[in-house]
Amino acid sequence: MSDTTTPTAAPSIEEFQAEVTAFLDANATRKEAEKKFVWGEGSDKVAMFEERDRDTETEMLAKACEWRAKRFDAGLGWITGPLEFGGRMLTSAHQRAYDALESKYAVPNQSFFTIGLGMVAPTILAHGSDAAKERYLKAMYRGDIVGCQLFSEPGAGSDLASLQTKAERDGDEWVITGQKVWTTGAHFSDLGEIIARTDPEQPKHRGLTGFIVDMHAPGVEVRPLRQMTGGASFNEVFFNEVRVRDDHRLGDVNNGWMVALTTLMNERAAIGAGGGGGGANLLTRIIEMVKAFGLSDDPLVRQRLADLIIHARVAGYNNQRAMDKIRSGQLPGPEMSMAKLAGTQNSLRMGAFVSQVLGAKLVADSGEWGTYAWSQLVLGTPGGRIAGGSDEVMRNIVGERVLGLPKDPGIDTTSPFRELKVGTQKG
Ligand SMILES: Cc1cc2nc3c(=O)[nH]c(=O)nc-3n(C[C@H](O)[C@H](O)[C@H](O)COP(=O)(O)OP(=O)(O)OC[C@H]3O[C@@H](n4cnc5c(N)ncnc54)[C@H](O)[C@@H]3O)c2cc1C
Repeated sequence: MSDTTTPTAAPSIEEFQAEVTAFLDANATRKEAEKKFVWGEGSDKVAMFEERDRDTETEMLAKACEWRAKRFDAGLGWITGPLEFGGRMLTSAHQRAYDALESKYAVPNQSFFTIGLGMVAPTILAHGSDAAKERYLKAMYRGDIVGCQLFSEPGAGSDLASLQTKAERDGDEWVITGQKVWTTGAHFSDLGEIIARTDPEQPKHRGLTGFIVDMHAPGVEVRPLRQMTGGASFNEVFFNEVRVRDDHRLGDVNNGWMVALTTLMNERAAIGAGGGGGGANLLTRIIEMVKAFGLSDDPLVRQRLADLIIHARVAGYNNQRAMDKIRSGQLPGPEMSMAKLAGTQNSLRMGAFVSQVLGAKLVADSGEWGTYAWSQLVLGTPGGRIAGGSDEVMRNIVGERVLGLPKDPGIDTTSPFRELKVGTQKG
């Protein structure tokens, strides 16, 4: 039997690259050299959220899981993870080397795992019981199960600590009742990380506890929400007396706020990592659009285009700085809020720019390549501005933690203006 607790000597980066290249050559196809973008050729998709029907999604998920299993079985599924759960215990430099090499090959879309591996698994590793770590971590990294984040509720989003879903103790189990909303991927998930209220008598941040919940358990009902872009990537999830064993608790009873913060810190890092500087990749298309529409010499168009390019470049550098900090082992900080805010603001700017260039072609599908397709970006941007912390909340964080402004009063703080408003209502 192989020893899963003693690390063997770590391969050098060069040795590791050779191992990864051999694995990729044997199991995937190398991408053709990136072709220069030509207006009117290839796909004109620029959606912020992927729009796919359920059959396509099921097929894509099966391929994604198959790829993760291959990676995991070859010792490449959890490069930085602990040996006991199938990790390789290598450095983040090895992880970067893997990512750089894999990006040169055509492999199945891995976005199904963004929440499970990016946010839920690190929380289980930090706060889960030994039984939960044993049961779920390897399975998650191998792609045998997929995870989702059950935090937001109809009355609790930015002010997450107001959540009302309750968990009541019953012997060695907890009984969960309530409603979550906006749960990305709940419809294809096997487990969820849920934060529930376990002591309504305590101040709101203190009476919460985190749990791992089986999404196929009796009493869990997932209802899709259709978004204005057409797809249904998000869900309402109802819990009707769902039973969870105490060894599925995350952290101590009533210490769920710390558990939630672990997840949220990883969420910002995951969003930042995927941000790529706020749509810099879309700029090439926009520049070619300006040429195709004969607007290259219009001084106002040129001025606004330059503005887009400058904002995207600055966001790209900031994002790189934030990710380098994380890669060097430091905790994600307010830079992630800056990266998120810059990304969504740049999407907004790009949407406004293409709306002016395209006019009616943005809203009426004439079949013309590269026109109506931009409506997906314009309609998806508001969701991006809310998910993972709204623009306003990001501004509060940047204001307080970067600029040193006084703290946001928050909704629980007594404010002379609030009293004034209440007084006016009474009058
Ligand atoms: C695409 C998408 C995917 C999501 N996926 C998930 C998921 O997988 N799991 C999950 O649990 N949740 C998910 N969410 C929910 C998301 O976390 C919440 O929508 C978000 O936290 C905002 O909460 P809310 O919708 O309740 O809005 P509210 O918090 O009610 O905010 C309403 C408005 O008030 C503003 N506001 C609120 N507080 C302040 C303040 N202190 N200062 C200034 N302005 C303020 C907000 O910016 C916003 O404009 C998702 C949301 C979206 C859009």
